[in-house]
Amino acid sequence: MKKILVMLKSNPEHWAEQLRAALPGHDILLSAAGEVSTAGEVGAIGAVDTAGAAGTAGATGAIGEVDYAIVSKPSPGALASLQGLKVVFSVNAGIEALLESGVVPDGIPIVRMVDSGLAEGMLEWVLAATLVWHRNLFAYRERQLSLEWAPMQELLARDRRVCVLGAGELGGRVAATLAQIGFDTRTWSRSPKQIAGVASFHGAEAIEESAGSCDFLINLLPLTAATENIIDHRLLACLGRQAVLINAGRGGHIVDQAVIDSLDSGQLRAAVLDVFRDEPLPLSHPFWRHPGVYLTPHVAAPTHIATALAAIAGNIRGFEAGAPLLHVVDRARGY
Ligand code: NAP
Repeated sequence: MKKILVMLKSNPEHWAEQLRAALPGHDILLSAAGEVSTAGEVGAIGAVDTAGAAGTAGATGAIGEVDYAIVSKPSPGALASLQGLKVVFSVNAGIEALLESGVVPDGIPIVRMVDSGLAEGMLEWVLAATLVWHRNLFAYRERQLSLEWAPMQELLARDRRVCVLGAGELGGRVAATLAQIGFDTRTWSRSPKQIAGVASFHGAEAIEESAGSCDFLINLLPLTAATENIIDHRLLACLGRQAVLINAGRGGHIVDQAVIDSLDSGQLRAAVLDVFRDEPLPLSHPFWRHPGVYLTPHVAAPTHIATALAAIAGNIRGFEAGAPLLHVVDRARGY
């Protein structure tokens, strides 16, 4: 019987219970040992209260042979102690922490999370952040508080230019929907894309052209050596005046000082930020109090256990039937 080890601190019992139902021919084991942190995308969604659940967590050393591990952010060495490990399944879409040296032993495939719950959640968050600025709702709130009846010039979506950095599972869906609404939409990715109504830019040399004169810059890139600090003074200067930056990729994508300087100069009208270099965002960070920053605590697209688990179970069934694993991370590329 194949063994699946759930190495999550957040709701492990719930994951195990659902896995037993989805894969009844598998032995489901639990170990919270080795989990570094559950901050971020890992699901509070679909959670059950596991307080008081006894005798389920053990040291990874005592587990012995396992075939698959389900992880978020395991500590270095935790996975190396497992015998017979064939695949590591991440419950997050962003897997940069798993690519750090010594976390996942060489040669073991890492499968990242691709599921409908993540994509829907991200789409909702990005649409909310985009539309609230497109239709000036925060500006009207301020006018309301000063008892001002003062209409602004209201534009249609077709009058706004949007650039989505990253056109993968999340960015591609966001771009397609923004284009359907009517926004003048472009994407920037490594390889060219064909998305209805969306202009595709690709390659490092095309990033400034893709962002040129945009009213919204939406970041949904993975964090890699090539994308770290990519949103800097230079890129922000390419946007249209009073643009809005929306970041749900990773905190390491933006040069924080460049965002603050661009807000202060009026180049940016607002920065809507979900992710930060250090999370929770340290209370001393200027983002907390800057009037142009609107932040959410890494909640744009949390992992929803039901859909995430269905994706993992489906992948395991296919793999055991001889099909190739889906959504395997390319370690050299970094995503
Ligand atoms: P994905 O399917 O792997 O898509 C990544 C996209 O980025 C692809 O279009 C890829 O281009 C592009 N890209 C990567 N490196 C590039 C480079 N150097 N130059 C140009 N384009 C590059 O990833 P995803 O599932 O959409 O997730 C994207 C990221 O969202 C995750 O890595 C994570 O950081 C973040 N995320 C955040 C939350 C949250 O709650 N805030 C939740 C989930 C995910 P190609 O298509 O040409 O390969």
